[in-house]
Amino acid sequence: MSTLPPCPKCNSEYTYEDGEQLVCPECAHEWKAGEAGASDDDTRVIKDSVGNLLQDGDTITVIKDLKVKGSSLVVKVGTKVKNIRLVDGDHDIDCKIDGIGAMKLKSEFVRKV
Ligand SMILES: [Zn+2]
Repeated sequence: MSTLPPCPKCNSEYTYEDGEQLVCPECAHEWKAGEAGASDDDTRVIKDSVGNLLQDGDTITVIKDLKVKGSSLVVKVGTKVKNIRLVDGDHDIDCKIDGIGAMKLKSEFVRKV
């Protein structure tokens, strides 16, 4: 049995391999084997659907209709969202959408303007 390095982000020992990647089940951090320690752990890299780097305060558009959890509202494709905030988690963008309010989006469903 090979010993996997602990998670560089939260130091969890329960990392596991997923193809070429190492995955931490505790904080959902994913990285490539051998990369640990090389990257600055404060900077979380979040990219949009086409690979643009996203940053706090960016303006994005939604690239597909997204249902708003717990309601019948839908965020339509093409909706412009200003001043996003990057957060940890499965939905990594925190934002406020006109007519809907605060919600979270996945970076894979947005595109930087
Ligand atoms: Zn972790």
